[in-house]
Amino acid sequence: MGIIGNIGHEARITARSLLDAASGMVEPSLRLGVTGLSRAGKTVFITSLVHALTVGARMPLFRAAGEGRIASARLAPQPDDAVPRFEIEKHLSAFTGAERHWPESTRRIAELRVVIDYQSQGFWGRQFGPSKLNLDIVDYPGEWLLDLGLMGKSFERWSSETVAQARIGARAAIAADWLEATAATDPGTRESEDVARRNAALFTSYLRSARDARHALSALPPGRFLMPGDLEGSPALTFAPLDVPADGTAPAGSIWALMGRRYDAYVQHVVRPFFRDHFARLDRQIVLVDALTALNAGPDAVMDLENALADVLTAFRHGGPSWLGVLRPRIDRLLFAATKADHLHHTSHDRLEAILAKLVERASVRAGAAGAMVDILALASVRATREGQVRRGGVEYPVIIGVPEAGEQAGDEIFDGEREMAFFPGDLPADPSQALAAGGFRGRLSGAEADMRFVNFRPPQIEPAPWGMRLPHIRLDRALEFLIGDALA
Ligand code: GDP
Repeated sequence: MGIIGNIGHEARITARSLLDAASGMVEPSLRLGVTGLSRAGKTVFITSLVHALTVGARMPLFRAAGEGRIASARLAPQPDDAVPRFEIEKHLSAFTGAERHWPESTRRIAELRVVIDYQSQGFWGRQFGPSKLNLDIVDYPGEWLLDLGLMGKSFERWSSETVAQARIGARAAIAADWLEATAATDPGTRESEDVARRNAALFTSYLRSARDARHALSALPPGRFLMPGDLEGSPALTFAPLDVPADGTAPAGSIWALMGRRYDAYVQHVVRPFFRDHFARLDRQIVLVDALTALNAGPDAVMDLENALADVLTAFRHGGPSWLGVLRPRIDRLLFAATKADHLHHTSHDRLEAILAKLVERASVRAGAAGAMVDILALASVRATREGQVRRGGVEYPVIIGVPEAGEQAGDEIFDGEREMAFFPGDLPADPSQALAAGGFRGRLSGAEADMRFVNFRPPQIEPAPWGMRLPHIRLDRALEFLIGDALA
């Protein structure tokens, strides 16, 4: 793991916690944001993390736990009554029983409070007896985070950027229908609800195809078009970019003026409140990244992921335009985590980390330092595979073994969701630049080159134990140490 940037906010949490404790009114609390684009693994991460904390799982690299200083961790009512609760019980139950399956993915913001009773490490801390930390976990779609880039951007600028971007690379083919409709829409023509609805529908289906597993593109605001949350079906989402100049002005009564008004309303009533009410209140943030899917999809997807990471870093640095100065993000630790590391043999975990580090480094050259301590990690929140060796033609191959989900396919074989299979997942190149340049890699089984596209595995069979269920993971404890370890020192 490499620390990429630090501008020294470290003391603040402790200072705030001390002030809070001294006042006797407010208990020390830490707000941890968990985000990532759809299917990156947010729900599985939070479920596994909260489970590990509350059952006291063995986590040697999470020091407070490893040193036996955590007396208990329990769920408690969350502080924000207006935010839906993260349904931990429902998500956990998905992992058990004969029909075990992955929990339902994040579709909107949710929150959960875990109260941790722990013993401080320091001399003074120990004199005051056990300490308490309220850990508030806030789960929200990464699509909404990318929206923060829209604050301070005019409809005209957003339009011209989005249209230009859609015309190049992998996007051109999937955006063809929407681009055609846009070319046929004279921006100066009279406003029309029909045109607005048609263009918005075509634009949304372009964004959806760009996000599918085959294309795996990342940078796609407005986020609510893909993750509408409670705005599903709302007229607030009935707009689309037009082919207008970045510095143009809309004629009164035109379709351009209508689209521009709706865009402004989106920024005003959706993006800004999200920033103010949720993002600006976070102390720590983990951004989950499905880097393997992007690597598998090819160079366009990798480039797009890098762009999205640059947007994420910009959001953490600025948060918003200067008039929002008082609400600048206060996040002082930011972890980028490549998820689903259990799709690789452990010999490639460090390489996956190095690839993500390279991507974040390249993104931060463009976006500037995040204004927080940044770290990179490859993890599996719930490990669905185990490792083994397969001998083929006198050669030993390191493999991963798991049950592919029903309907998953490798080569000609379609899996039934019941049988365990061994896969040679392919080696990630030791040089991250090489992996990124190639924009992917292929796995081989029995020595033959094969298009490996990662198969999704079913969650692991959890053996009931006398001390309760345990969810296997990879490096979850390292993530926790970086994100909250100092608050439990
Ligand atoms: P979200 O949209 O970010 O909430 O994503 P989820 O947490 O629902 O994860 C999406 C899917 O990714 C899951 O249904 C699993 O198929 C897969 N997944 C997530 N985390 C892991 C992991 O740690 N290991 C494996 N093998 N698959 C995972």
